[in-house]
Amino acid sequence: MKSDQNNLSRPFHAAGARGVLACDGVSLQALAKQYGTPLYVYSGTQIVERLRLFQSAFAGREHLVCYAVKANSSLAILKLLAENGAGFDIVSGGELARVLAAAPEAAGRVVFSGVGKTAEEIDAALDAKILEFNVESESELALLASRAKKRGVKARFALRVNPDVFADTHPYISTGLREHKFGIDIRQAAAIYRAAAKNKWLEPHGISVHIGSQIRSADPFGAAIRRVSKLAAQLRSEGVSLCVIDAGGGLGIDYHAGGDASDPAAKVAEYAAAIEKALDGFEGRLLIEPGRFIVAQAGALVTRVLNVKKNGKKTFVITDAAMNDLIRPALYQAYHEIVPVKPRAGRTRVVDVVGPVCETGDFFARDREMKPVEAGDLLALLDAGAYGMAQSSNYNSRMRPAEVLVEGKKYRLVRRREEMRDLLATEMV
Ligand SMILES: *Cc1c(COP(=O)(O)O)cnc(C)c1O
Repeated sequence: MKSDQNNLSRPFHAAGARGVLACDGVSLQALAKQYGTPLYVYSGTQIVERLRLFQSAFAGREHLVCYAVKANSSLAILKLLAENGAGFDIVSGGELARVLAAAPEAAGRVVFSGVGKTAEEIDAALDAKILEFNVESESELALLASRAKKRGVKARFALRVNPDVFADTHPYISTGLREHKFGIDIRQAAAIYRAAAKNKWLEPHGISVHIGSQIRSADPFGAAIRRVSKLAAQLRSEGVSLCVIDAGGGLGIDYHAGGDASDPAAKVAEYAAAIEKALDGFEGRLLIEPGRFIVAQAGALVTRVLNVKKNGKKTFVITDAAMNDLIRPALYQAYHEIVPVKPRAGRTRVVDVVGPVCETGDFFARDREMKPVEAGDLLALLDAGAYGMAQSSNYNSRMRPAEVLVEGKKYRLVRRREEMRDLLATEMV
């Protein structure tokens, strides 16, 4: 918490004389009491602020911020973003249904990415008249053409090209190298556009690229866009004019206690400058697809300590949240700052913070120096707004958490806690 007091990157701050952690103006202790734990809490205020950072960074050109739904697909968050002008990047028919449920008026602002779209998913997206399909293979393009023909409509598409750019991030979320499953080799793209331009059911509309996630430097974004705008210029000279460049998502956040280095406005400005420079004369519309950067730091997972136990030299803090609620530490060895909601005085000690799931991989922190905590205390796992609830599961037949959206001093439940009947609802004996 040392630097947190002046850290603009998070909406969670100690408030009042007793220093209880609050989200915007709402005490996490009060929310835990009202809704139970584990509980996801989001600052809607920060989510909108982050969206606006991108919107104003690109205000000088025609653009659309297509929030990547997979980072956090809560309907209330989608609605909030849509109301503030966002479009959406989806990767499944389920995500399309979510956007249509939360903000049907935003259908025309949806781009559909993903390496394996089914005919049913394509049909649903054609019917919804989405903005563009980001196509990842020639066979998918053929499928798109055949579905469009059946409906008698022209499908707008972009090829998601693979620019062969290395982005320094966790190998599971790096996507821009030729050896990855994503995209079409950029060297083959021109020929595919030329052929598609002759197909009456296809409209070459854009080029897209997405090189990975949690990328902290602006350089790889610039490198990828340089290659993409070169291709766009080449195609234009051959008579295939594309009106959109989609730069994808991937801008990373600082999961370690913030400070100046992680000033979000500066980060977005640097990212935008790299992209602007690389667009090099492209006059069409720019799309970007940020997910994590918009929602990650707006969210915390609030959990109660069930038990503190010692095994040999190790101290384990066992929480009522587990890897099924937040899998990032187990899946990506990710770091999450963990802070007591109501700090106790005393010396720090080194602990493991773990959940009750029957897996050694079920941990939130290992060998972490923490202020004393006791059974019954509340902890907040920070920066949990992205790829937290969205990647949660019912593993160990655990019911998934509730979600609360805070805006200033107001708050509301936006997803109720699952109950046992929800878990059993789809099964037959
Ligand atoms: C995951 C993904 C994003 C969002 O990535 P973030 O790192 O959350 O910004 C954007 N576009 C595509 C195609 C994706 O797969």
